[in-house]
Amino acid sequence: MPTISIPTALRQQVGGDATVNVQGNNIGEALDSLTAQFPELKKHLFDASGKLRNFVNIYVNDEDIRYQQLEETPIKDSDEISIIPSIAGGAASSEAEAAEAYARTTDLPDLNKEEVARYSRHLIMPEVGMEGQRKLKAASILLVGAGGLGSPLGLYLAAAGVGRLGIVDFDVVDHSNLQRQVLHGTKDVGRPKLRSAIDRLSDINPHIQIDGYEFALRSENALAVINEYDIIIDGTDNFQTRYLVNDASVLLGKPNVYGSIFRFDGQASVFYPKGGGPCYRCLYPEPPPPGLVPSCAEGGVLGILPGIIGVIQATEAIKLIIGQGESLIGRLLLFDALKMKFKELKLRRNPGCPLCGENPTIKELIDYDQFCGIAPHAEQPPAADEWEITPAQLKERLDRGERVTIIDVREPHEWQIVNLENYGSRLIPLGQFPNRINELNSEDEIVLHCKMGGRSAKAYEVLKKTGFKKIKNLKGGILAWADQVDRSLPKY
Ligand SMILES: [Zn+2]
Repeated sequence: MPTISIPTALRQQVGGDATVNVQGNNIGEALDSLTAQFPELKKHLFDASGKLRNFVNIYVNDEDIRYQQLEETPIKDSDEISIIPSIAGGAASSEAEAAEAYARTTDLPDLNKEEVARYSRHLIMPEVGMEGQRKLKAASILLVGAGGLGSPLGLYLAAAGVGRLGIVDFDVVDHSNLQRQVLHGTKDVGRPKLRSAIDRLSDINPHIQIDGYEFALRSENALAVINEYDIIIDGTDNFQTRYLVNDASVLLGKPNVYGSIFRFDGQASVFYPKGGGPCYRCLYPEPPPPGLVPSCAEGGVLGILPGIIGVIQATEAIKLIIGQGESLIGRLLLFDALKMKFKELKLRRNPGCPLCGENPTIKELIDYDQFCGIAPHAEQPPAADEWEITPAQLKERLDRGERVTIIDVREPHEWQIVNLENYGSRLIPLGQFPNRINELNSEDEIVLHCKMGGRSAKAYEVLKKTGFKKIKNLKGGILAWADQVDRSLPKY
């Protein structure tokens, strides 16, 4: 009796068996015998007109029947028949991956008439097609952050028809977001980003489900949220969340599509140890000490850059879902917008990685504030009247005609945006501070300020060590001044 070997992708249709005994004198009869035993297989192997599907190859021993007599090809009892499914136009990175991708064709949701019309430009591409679009509909993606990267990610993934999007964000839309966070509009300023994002994405595609999580992702809640999704996309802007997202994704065996941006530079990769690649910790075992790497809020970012990197992340997520192409797993893509150049680095899995290595030491989520060297609430220094002055207090003293020397420790380009020159403020950037202390008189009442209060706190320490006593730090910086004292001033 001849046997047919069943590919992994189709085994669940035959009760898990690798081979099935069949009867018949030629391939056509053998396949009839197979589908008589397992009627579910019929739609996988044949099209509506009963023709063998063109991505299903049949071999008799080591010969393709297309080079013999097709379904008339005679068979003997001792022959071994093999079904080899392939994906049309596909270039999946390994046979196992291709098989896995193919296996997902079972139990996929159908598309309704409106969805077929909406996704027609996908449906006519062999690499996506009806099957790929149904995979997209079945898929779920978690976006961590609805800001710069989250904007293009949300817009394109919603438009592409990813069936379920989760968004984690607890921030509020600010005027300074609009230069790059194209998910939000001017009318949304002051609204929670999550509400604004859900409104915009539901308008783009009402056929998808969008779930919002209006809180910070933390060790206590990350596993529960991340576990609900197939793919995690990291659109965060701080190291604590970046390591948290990496660790939780690895612990749960989920792909983590990574992107980061700063000024004109971008990075993207896919971290997926379960898929054979490294994790973020293999690349960066430890975060830089706080303050060493400036954030986009301090250093700025070209508004277009998150668009480019976010769209690359979205592309990688869609490729993972439809099982096509070569993923960025094991590769770090570097983008330089000034040179308009892409560069690629090979990423290797580190056998000594504490998370995904051979002897992992991280088996549960840790305290990421501590890991990143950030004291809890470090961004809000204790409200000690001794060393701080609020904008209202400073205004009161100035109005009373008190002589106060205001020193702005920001950068010259920030001074150009907004300054307190009307009150006699002088610019001494923090970096020049140690060399320019002689310009200050320790007998004067000095108030130091920057954008938000962090850099001026450092300048305060420098002056204090030098022996200055009559110094204060403006609490909340010039932004707080603009909020509390002079609302006509621009904020950035
Ligand atoms: Zn690792």
